Parts: sequence; structure tokens; C-alpha cells
Amino acid sequence: MIGDSPADETLVVEALTRGGYDVAHQRVNDSEALTAALGRRASSIAIVDATVTGVPAAVALDLIRVHDADLPCIVIADWGGDEAVVAAMRCGARDFILKRHLERLAPAVDRELGEAGARRERRRAEKRLAYLAYHDPLTDLPNRLLLHDRLAQALRVAARTSTSLALLILDLNGFKEINDTLGHHAGDRLLQCVASRVRGMLRDADTVARLGGDEFAIVLPVTDVNGALLTAEKVLHEIEQPCVIDHRALSVRSSLGISCFPEHGTSAEALLQRADVAMYVAKSDRVGIAVYAPSQDRHTHRRLTLISELRTGLDENQFTLEYQPIVHLPTNVVTGVEALVRWNHPKQGRVMPDGFIHLAEQTGLINPLTTIILETAIREWSQPPPVPPLTVAVNLSPRTLQDPGLPRRIADMLAVYGAPPQSLALEITENILMSDPVRSMDCLKGLHEMGVRIVIDDFGTGYSSLSYLRRLPVDELKIDRSFITGLLEGADDVIVRSTIDLAHNLGLTVVAEGVESDEVHARLMALGCDAVQGTFIRAPAPMAEVRAWIGSQNLLGLM
Ligand code: C2E
Ligand code: MG
Ligand code: MG
Repeated sequence: MIGDSPADETLVVEALTRGGYDVAHQRVNDSEALTAALGRRASSIAIVDATVTGVPAAVALDLIRVHDADLPCIVIADWGGDEAVVAAMRCGARDFILKRHLERLAPAVDRELGEAGARRERRRAEKRLAYLAYHDPLTDLPNRLLLHDRLAQALRVAARTSTSLALLILDLNGFKEINDTLGHHAGDRLLQCVASRVRGMLRDADTVARLGGDEFAIVLPVTDVNGALLTAEKVLHEIEQPCVIDHRALSVRSSLGISCFPEHGTSAEALLQRADVAMYVAKSDRVGIAVYAPSQDRHTHRRLTLISELRTGLDENQFTLEYQPIVHLPTNVVTGVEALVRWNHPKQGRVMPDGFIHLAEQTGLINPLTTIILETAIREWSQPPPVPPLTVAVNLSPRTLQDPGLPRRIADMLAVYGAPPQSLALEITENILMSDPVRSMDCLKGLHEMGVRIVIDDFGTGYSSLSYLRRLPVDELKIDRSFITGLLEGADDVIVRSTIDLAHNLGLTVVAEGVESDEVHARLMALGCDAVQGTFIRAPAPMAEVRAWIGSQNLLGLM
């Protein structure tokens, strides 16, 4: 209450108490005391006596409105006509009550408190809407719009003060798989975890924004390329620490692209576009962090060209297979071949798989490509079937195994060419089950029950242990060539020896790939390895050549 009279104060309190209120109140009579009281406690209503002497009623009303626009004020007065009422309302009063009619006070307060509540609610909603227009509701981070604002603002400051500025764009690797496998709930939690970690490790002056999906942006004021690289390393490391979500420790890697003012651009658009190009490069080259370089624009241009050429290549049958024999070590008999794809590019000539498989995987073109490869491999080795029979191994990318229709399609292909399922092997990598364990496992089981052989390729380079393999329907391990080539040098020998022993204990056969010399061949024989593959035996070659070679080789074996 703002007023001079303790008697009026008592009357007001009595009127309100009669109206059913339990009143906690304070009376002040000048502007300092009013300001102090407003700051001290959150009041529900203000009663302003029009005749207060220490502060004009109009000023008191103004002070209150500035402090809290939603706090309702009721003016009380000893007398006053229409003019006084209008004047009070103009100054922001919600009602005007003569002191001799204080019985009107409680109903007026009832009404005002209700309306003030509604006003507060509406204002909160408006605030929230304004906030949402500039923030991402999931992570509470600024959104793309606000990032743009902040970046433009930071650029103006940098230009004026001749300082540098760095923009980082960050994208999680394999986030889609996590979402698909563990559900959107887990995906959302992971994004929140990443967002709060990144926000927590940076300075207040830095902006962290979510651009959408699993993409984030970071603005680092007064930072040059070296500073940006240091921060990027820290961010990458921080994100890699596992997040515990639904009692499961999830760990993701990320790719980060950097662009800097003024070297790489002077506008927000240019910096965003260039950091994006760099991020793309970091991701496709699997290097984690990349700083924008003009040559990368060509890189992305080349990439786009290559994607469209891949499509044409599929339509125009530009893919052929070479086969590399796999030889049973104790008997020297060829027991299988591995199909290796080659792209006969109209301009570049023969392109090896390392030059396009990764791109095909990223763009989804791997599935039609794999279908062609499977079909070709089965056809080429079923007409006529070799004697003695052998197994044709085809490499599968993780993504292919997530297609529940795969076992059915493979069964159909085998049926068309009258090839027994045992004549087909599928090489998968250890990590194949990391992305979508349930679906991949179903697919693998289906294939295995059909009689198709399952081989773990590049064994030793992934994350899995042999005991983990026990749960998989696997027939064979192929030890990665990085262990075989250096076999005669100590440490690798131990790895290869124990892999062979453990695999045998699990009932799996073991193949060594990348056998390049007589010495390695002999050592593998001594270690009890079952089969070998490598240039020492025979380099990959087209089907006719390999068939001829196998004929002479198996004859030799018989002699
Ligand atoms: P991988 O499945 O481990 O295939 C073995 C690779 O080692 C082949 O390379 C082969 O030519 C090479 N190689 C053979 N003998 C030796 C040797 O003695 N020493 C060394 N250093 N290397 C040897 P290539 O044909 O370039 O294939 C590379 C990779 O591309 C393959 O590794 C496989 O992961 C992938 N790939 C090949 N064909 C296909 C395919 O049809 N589908 C899919 N998804 N991936 C494929
Ligand atoms: Mg392979
Ligand atoms: Mg391999």
C-alpha cells in the first residue's frame, strides 16, 4: 500500500480480510521506500492512496509499472469524480475506489488477481514463443536463425577491431544408425548430452547452436585457425566420451569443419558454407577435423560428379569382378575365390574399390551395386560349376545387412542359377553388428540357416572380441592383412597365433589374407592356419583366367 494513513491501512486490510484474504502487507509513502519494497518482495496487488504526500500517485503507479507491468494497482481516494477516475486509469490503475465504498475492494481484488494471472500466463507464452523462434527446444541451444544473427554481429565486431573469428560446424558420425537402432528417444537424449557437454566446455562468449538434426555450429570470437584447431580437438575428444542413456553407454564420434574470418570469407553465409564444405571433407576422409581450403570446393564438386557417375555406371554395367583364389594350406587345393569389384570408368579407366565403395555406402548406392555383384558372382561361377566345387566369397557392406529382404533375394538368385547355398560365402566386417545389431543379426541368421557361409573379414581391426563372435552365426575368420604382411616381426606373430588357436576352439576355420612371401606362407602353415590368400598365391584376375589357373593348380596339388 502506498499511502500516509495507518488508519486507512487498517481499513484496507479489514476489507480484504472480510473478503476472505489472508493479507501480508506493507505501507510505504515515498518513492525510495516504494522502490525498495518492490525489489524486496513479489506483491500480488498494489493499493495506491490518491492523496499520498511523499510521492505523486501518478509517479507511484509509474514506478510500479516499470518494476512489474503485470502487478495490478487499485487507487483509493477520499473523493473524486469521473475525471479523477479517468486520470488514474490513464496512469495505469486498474480500478478507482472511494474509501467510503471499501466494500468494493475485495471483489475488485478478486477480479484483478484473476486477470493478472491470465496476463502473466499470456506473457509467459509470448516469451516462450519468442524464445522458441530463436532456440532449439530439444537442446535449448540457439537455432540456425539466432546463430546467423550472432555470427553476423560477431563479424561486425571482428571487422571493426581487426580481430579474427572462427566458425566450426560439427556433425555426429552414424547418428542415423543410433536413431534407427535404439529409437528416437535415445537419439534425442544423445543430442542433449552432446549439446550440454559442448556448451559446458566453451566460454560464455562463444555461441553453440544446433543447426538441425545432428549438426551443430560453434562461433569462436577472437580466434584464429590455430586456436580453432585446438578447440576443435577438445570438442571432438569431449564428444567421444560415452553418454549413459537408458543404462547404456553410448559413444559417438563426430566430424568438424572449420572456416575463419577473414581468410575464408567475410560474410556469415560464406563462412557457413565453407565450414560446411570442410566438415564434409572431414567426414568423407574420416579425419575428424578439416580446415576449409579452396581446393575442397573442387573436392565436393568432384564428389558430386562421382556420385552421378556411379549412378550411370550402375545403369550401364560398368562394374566387373575379379576373383582371387583362396587355397587350403595343408593340401594346396583351391577351395574358394573372393570376388573383388572393379569399376571400368569411361574416363578414369579402372577404378579400385577403395575409390568408390565408401561413396556408394554413403549415398545408398551400395545396395543396387551389391545386388549386381552378388548376381554376377553367382552367375559366373555356376556356368558351369567348377570341379571340385568351390566357394565364391562376396564382400558385404554393413548397410546391406540391414535390409531384411536380403536372405530372400539371395535365395532367389541361387535358385535361378541352380547354385547350392554352400557355394556362396559372405564376407562381413566385425563392426557390421555395431550399427543395427537386431536387424543385422536376423539377416545373418537367415542366411546362415540357408547354408550360406559367413566370414568375418579384416579380423583384428574392429572392436569385437572372439567371445563376442561366439554369439554370431559365423563359419570363418579372415585375419586382416595388416597382421599377416608383418607376420615375421614379433608382436604380429603372437596375435596371429592366438587368433588361430582361439578360432579353432570356437570351431571356426581361419584364413590369412595378404600373404606376399614364401616365409609368411611357411610360418602360417606352422601355426596351423587353414587357408591363405594373397599375391604370393595369385593376384585377383577375371573369371576365365582364374578358372584356368585353378585347373592347373589343383592338378599340381594332386601330383
Ligand atoms: P578385402 O575384402 O580385405 O579384400 C582384399 C584386398 O586385398 C583386395 O583389394 C585384394 O586385391 C588385396 N590383396 C590381395 N592380395 C594381397 C596381398 O598379398 N597383399 C596386399 N597388400 N593386398 C592384397 P581390393 O580389391 O582393392 O579391395 C579392397 C577392399 O574393398 C576389400 O578388402 C573390400 O573391403 C572392398 N571391396 C572389394 N570388393 C567389394 C565388393 O564387391 N563389395 C564391397 N562392399 N566391398 C568390396
Ligand atoms: Mg574381403
Ligand atoms: Mg580383408
